[in-house]
Amino acid sequence: MTLPDVYSAEPIPAAAQAEVERLLKTGDLFRYTASQDAPVALLESEFSELLGSKYALAVSSCSAALFLSLKALDLPRDAKVLIPGFTFAAVPSSVVHADCVPVLCEVGGNYRIEIADFAARLDDVQAVIISHMRGHTSDMDAIMALCDAKNIPVIEDAAHSVGTTWHGRNIGTIGKIGCFSFQSYKLLNSGEGGILVTDDADLVARAVIMSGAYEHNWQKHKAKPGDNTSDLANAFARWQNKLPLYNLRLSNLSAAIIRPQLAELPRRIRDGRANHDYVADKLNQNAWISVPPKLAPEERAPDSIQFNLQGMSGNQVAAYQQAAQNRGIKVQVFGASQDNARAFWNWQFLGETPNLPQTRKMLMHACDVRLPARLTRPELDVIACTLLDAMDDVMLPTAAE
Ligand SMILES: *Cc1c(COP(=O)(O)O)cnc(C)c1O
Repeated sequence: MTLPDVYSAEPIPAAAQAEVERLLKTGDLFRYTASQDAPVALLESEFSELLGSKYALAVSSCSAALFLSLKALDLPRDAKVLIPGFTFAAVPSSVVHADCVPVLCEVGGNYRIEIADFAARLDDVQAVIISHMRGHTSDMDAIMALCDAKNIPVIEDAAHSVGTTWHGRNIGTIGKIGCFSFQSYKLLNSGEGGILVTDDADLVARAVIMSGAYEHNWQKHKAKPGDNTSDLANAFARWQNKLPLYNLRLSNLSAAIIRPQLAELPRRIRDGRANHDYVADKLNQNAWISVPPKLAPEERAPDSIQFNLQGMSGNQVAAYQQAAQNRGIKVQVFGASQDNARAFWNWQFLGETPNLPQTRKMLMHACDVRLPARLTRPELDVIACTLLDAMDDVMLPTAAE
């Protein structure tokens, strides 16, 4: 059997196609044209309902959501923002965009923040962004306890974590603000797009205005039915005309493409998790490969798998990548290419990048393979077998410690 295509997204649901067709006929593509119930506004109320948060603001990308979150927090110029040393380059970029200074902390072999190092760097930090990279959730109990004790706001970069829960609570609703992506490689796909969620009326009002709700367009952002409406109205009145407009809005077309996918989420989460665990069990049989387990409070929603090549030298890691390539699978090792956007030493726009030996070691041994929810068991078998056969090409099966 040939290897499946792991890059294509799922087709956009027929209901979305019909709604896009309707919008194209009316030309009503701007979120603030309609007096109410624009697709973007409906997406916001559906998403906040789904997540269990009070407010949601849909914007042009998760990066825009992260930038607006930092701006909404009203951090002074050059404020230090602590971020993990393992994240996507868009995260330090959003910090730079907000005129703040990223401070990086160590990430361990399980792709999660090293709490001792995180705590040690927290002292002169004014905000924190937790990137749940590839959906791997860092210890949010420890992080929230440390940050709450110092009154440091936590932004969750849940770009790739929709559907993941921590003690049963949705990732993205634990910190002060959570940010999600609708870019095509995430579980909800509109090509581009993002959304932020929060329970804080003042923060959302600031973010709404700065996202481009000019004049009185903020009136089209409502509290949820049954919620106190005056908190939000008062916050908007407070910030009227006081903030710059960065115009990072989402179009009605993108919202129309996302909305019917919300109903697909439970299936994508269930199948993605089952696929991941099925392949992880097979890979963990090999002594050279280790898929780190999830943390106990976490229920994951993966659409890819990460595994560490343990006890292998740099040359052996490269040989494994080549062997997998020869067998038709592209295995990305985060730190092993010149330009990977998830390797912190490639973020040269920061000037000097710090020395994070643990994170570096992880990045040099951590492999990344896409595993979309739509794959079938036979397709997963082919992927797992190929990954294991490639290991047999380069390492002796019995020699691992
Ligand atoms: C995709 C991703 C982003 C960026 O999202 P955009 O919507 O493309 O801006 C940020 N952080 C993480 C962890 C991501 O996976």
